[in-house]
Amino acid sequence: MSQKRALIIGCGIAGPAVAIFLKRAGYDPCIYEAKEVHNDYTGLFLNVARNGMRVLAELGVDEQIRREGIEMRAMSFHSSNGKYLGTIGERSGEPQGYTVKRGFPHQVLREAALREGIPVEFGRKLVHMQMTDRQVTAFFEDGTSAKGDFLVGCDAFIRALASCSCRAPWSPNIRG
Ligand SMILES: Cc1cc2nc3c(=O)[nH]c(=O)nc-3n(C[C@H](O)[C@H](O)[C@H](O)COP(=O)(O)OP(=O)(O)OC[C@H]3O[C@@H](n4cnc5c(N)ncnc54)[C@H](O)[C@@H]3O)c2cc1C
Repeated sequence: MSQKRALIIGCGIAGPAVAIFLKRAGYDPCIYEAKEVHNDYTGLFLNVARNGMRVLAELGVDEQIRREGIEMRAMSFHSSNGKYLGTIGERSGEPQGYTVKRGFPHQVLREAALREGIPVEFGRKLVHMQMTDRQVTAFFEDGTSAKGDFLVGCDAFIRALASCSCRAPWSPNIRG
């Protein structure tokens, strides 16, 4: 039986992570990224919390984040008007997460996906998609298209999917 093709839109954090899990589950994923080239030094910092580290461990890339990251042992939360909300962890305790440059997890996950033989196509910005009962076609800004059995939107805030005229009976719920 031929493998089902998964079109993964976006090669940030979610895209390669989903693609690797799908590949391991027997699907045939391909990642389409809008940017022409990757820039692994873009953005500010991101803290990968313990639950995120557990997912990265499943993907076999947690050690890279530990090596590159700054241990975050305690983190205090304040509301936008300064009210203290609480603290997780202790200064002398176990790391609660690791702080890395925002582009670093992108790089690590993209490279892991490539190592698993998952193609990553740059300069492929999703602008439209069409669904039939059996197939989905993704149309890209450069005039090309790709067919798959299903499509997973990993384009952050599901912006591209939100603007696509699909027949989904729901409106995207933007969760950030
Ligand atoms: C300044 C800042 C600080 C943050 N700090 C933290 C933090 O400390 N801890 C934390 O857990 N989270 C943090 N976040 C949130 C975190 O960065 C996001 O939750 C995470 O990046 C979401 O991953 P993603 O894969 O969904 O999106 P992204 O990592 O943003 O990747 C989306 C990818 O989709 C591509 N794309 C977009 N549109 C299209 C299209 N039409 N076609 C093809 N590709 C497309 C983009 O180019 C991008 O590469 C922070 C966010 C910001 C902005």
